Amino acid sequence: MPIKRGNKLVELREEVVKGLEREYQIGLRSAPDFTTFVNNLLLDVIRREEFLAKYKPFSHLNYAGSHAGSLFIRDIQRNVIAEITYKDELLYCNSPDSSSDCDHTRFATSLIDVAKYLQEK
Ligand SMILES: [Zn+2]
Repeated sequence: MPIKRGNKLVELREEVVKGLEREYQIGLRSAPDFTTFVNNLLLDVIRREEFLAKYKPFSHLNYAGSHAGSLFIRDIQRNVIAEITYKDELLYCNSPDSSSDCDHTRFATSLIDVAKYLQEK
């Protein structure tokens, strides 16, 4: 199949293709075809990475690992380590400012580690 000038063929691993096809079938983002779906998804990932690199909304937070069903976020501004747990389909934070809607939980939802952690549950 000929490809457009400037485009590039990329080999994707089977597990990646299966995951992408699953997401495409679910239809959470509408796209006229699979190729457009994958391209738009990757553009969004690039935009998100560029945004986070430029604005650093969570520069005071770091992922500090997981243990026994909890994730830990180090907060150098407040000098605390927040423990994040998952319950009833929400992430909760145990730090004093805590709720399911603090910086720590917002930061946690931006981490790929959270997706891995939730997958294991
Ligand atoms: Zn918190």
